[in-house]
Amino acid sequence: MIKVETEKVKELKQLLEDRQRIVLLPHTSPDGDALGATGAFAEVLKAVYSQKEIFIVSPDDVDDYLAWLPIDENFVSFYGNKEKAIKLIEEADLILHLDHNQVKRVRYPELIDAVYQNKEAKRVLIDHHEFPDKDFDLIFSYPELSSTCELVFMLLKGLVWEEHISPKTSTLLLSGMVTDTGRFMYACFYPQIFQHLSELLVLGADYPMIIDRLSYHNKEEQLRLQGYMLNNKLELYPELGTAILTLSQAEMQERGISKGDTEGLVNLPLTIKGINSSCFIREDKSQIKLSLRSIGDFPVNELAMRAFGGGGHLNASGGEFQGSIDEAKNIYLYELKALLEQKK
Ligand code: 5GP
Ligand code: MN
Repeated sequence: MIKVETEKVKELKQLLEDRQRIVLLPHTSPDGDALGATGAFAEVLKAVYSQKEIFIVSPDDVDDYLAWLPIDENFVSFYGNKEKAIKLIEEADLILHLDHNQVKRVRYPELIDAVYQNKEAKRVLIDHHEFPDKDFDLIFSYPELSSTCELVFMLLKGLVWEEHISPKTSTLLLSGMVTDTGRFMYACFYPQIFQHLSELLVLGADYPMIIDRLSYHNKEEQLRLQGYMLNNKLELYPELGTAILTLSQAEMQERGISKGDTEGLVNLPLTIKGINSSCFIREDKSQIKLSLRSIGDFPVNELAMRAFGGGGHLNASGGEFQGSIDEAKNIYLYELKALLEQKK
């Protein structure tokens, strides 16, 4: 049974009581979990402390594929409004880091500097990635949990704030649990998560809506992209049990595809028997972005860390790279072989 530490929850409560200007910070290109967790926590804080200033400062805007998440006007993105985002961080007296384990995961140097230069603010980490940095005032790190949303739900219960969890808040929390588990297919093999799912449904979470938006709102281009990738781009390495998919800027432009539309592609090769790791390499405007996935106990986060200075979870990780798609591919294969040898 996974439990949040009562003493630390008391410390968190005290900080929330004492501080006036609270900023909630998700990671760059925030996913369903990062947005769900910041959105939900912000909702509850607004309900409990109507006099406090509570803002979500996201490094990036919300991708189209998550635009349905019920997030309010207290959301500011650095990408969209740099001055306001920096000002909010500079003036904050409490910063909650959600769904990332290192400050550098907010990506933009100006944002990172603003966080470190604010000596007044206390900083709290609320996260489920392995190997958290230590430079926070208070750390809630639970890699054994599905999602930061699930952790936030447990913290809210620990704070005895269930009465402040609205249907909207429960929907946000459930969204992160659903997205970070691939609709309850991985990172969810423990009983407690289904108890939490059930409790969120009782609190009014709109599960059918979440499934509808995630499953039945694709653009035609996305479905056609899947066909194109599987027909033309899938590279299988059966001897390594791995698959690689790559996508260039030119291909994305030709097909009217944006970054968010590539979500989920990396999982497709894992459905083949004998393929237990998968790598998706996408050429973005200023860098190469890698997404790695595995099934079973192969640690793609170690590979992402070693080869690409990235990180993530045992079965889902990512990283960035400066260079060409082919270089990234070769590094991936090289490091995969090395890691497979080492694990033998
Ligand atoms: P995705 O492949 O969906 O972008 O990311 C999967 C997981 O890897 C997420 O948990 C995410 O936080 C982590 N991740 C993705 N990219 C990076 C990265 O560049 N650096 C680190 N440290 N983690 C990443
Ligand atoms: Mn997460």
